[in-house]
Amino acid sequence: MTSLYIHIPFCAKKCLYCDFYSIGYEKELAQAYIKTISRQIKLLNEKFYTIYIGGGTPTSLDIPLLHELLKALSSISKKCNEFTIEANPETLSQEKIKLLRGSGVNRISIGVQSLNDKKLKALGRIHNSGRALESIRLAEKNGFSNINIDLIFGVWSETVADWRDELRAAVKLPVKHISCYSLTYERHTQLFKNVKNKVVVPLPDSICARMYKLTMDYLPKQKFRQYEISNFAKRGFECKHNLNYWENNSYMGVGVSAVSFINGVREKNISGIKEYIRKMQKGKSVVCSTEKLSAKKAALETAAIKIRTIDGIDFGWFRKRTGFDFMALEKGAIKMLVKEKLLKYRITNKQPKAVSVTEKGLLFCDSISSQLL
Ligand code: SF4
Repeated sequence: MTSLYIHIPFCAKKCLYCDFYSIGYEKELAQAYIKTISRQIKLLNEKFYTIYIGGGTPTSLDIPLLHELLKALSSISKKCNEFTIEANPETLSQEKIKLLRGSGVNRISIGVQSLNDKKLKALGRIHNSGRALESIRLAEKNGFSNINIDLIFGVWSETVADWRDELRAAVKLPVKHISCYSLTYERHTQLFKNVKNKVVVPLPDSICARMYKLTMDYLPKQKFRQYEISNFAKRGFECKHNLNYWENNSYMGVGVSAVSFINGVREKNISGIKEYIRKMQKGKSVVCSTEKLSAKKAALETAAIKIRTIDGIDFGWFRKRTGFDFMALEKGAIKMLVKEKLLKYRITNKQPKAVSVTEKGLLFCDSISSQLL
């Protein structure tokens, strides 16, 4: 099951904490880029399980460019199971939403980030909570029944009570999926510099852990089941694209800085947009790194990614998926993590049949994943 990812790198403004490849919107550059990737997309002649247009901010494209991209995708998007676009509130208009829905996009992921204006301002976002709510309502009114919102917690200016208020407000919205991410301080971001210069003092880990615990307790009570460390959905609205990724299945990445993983080979595209366009126009490769994974390394990666889902790793599924016996591959690390109560077995007929993270383990998922690699 191969998924397709398309990267649109433009954003209205760089956010303080952002570590993604994104650049300011320039009309002529955007035109050349969309022309280039649309040509590339039209040559794709296979059935994709899911399609995901991400960024950057895909909805920063103006209507004719968005239309050109969606038209290029039309023959393959009709056959896929889920077609998602990422959007930011400040770039969503009724006209754009109608165009998206009319072009077969059936899932929209809105970068709300917060419903608290003070927090949005601190993060350097250019929308306010009113605009975020309006964009959600517009999406719902124009036929989107599968809406995700992204929220960030652990911002230096907020309290646990503030975060509780946001969660309470979020579950009242017409959304089926909520992704909650803890704020991270990535190198090379303005926020990282602000911390270094003592302009910003991060919240203690213990407070962030309380916020996460609150999220995990509260959202499931409101029928948003947690199915991955950061993701909560109403039943049947789990993101198929991400589930496919978490099973370490194939994906093809189109666009600048996009990554593909096909038949055990991982390829990364170059990050300079002008160079990307130039090379594509000349028919040259845009791949800047290639890694061929051994069957064992691919199996270990599958374990490291899949363990982040709440269902964890079913040993039968793992053998079928990778050809390896999970316990033979991971025995030492798993035993130790189970002993530390970070992982737990699912036992059937007195035999462990699966392993998944415990509530305590959810707080240390990154470390668990790296121990499985
Ligand atoms: S809108 Fe998203 S991708 Fe763009 S700068 Fe902000 S965080 Fe980064």
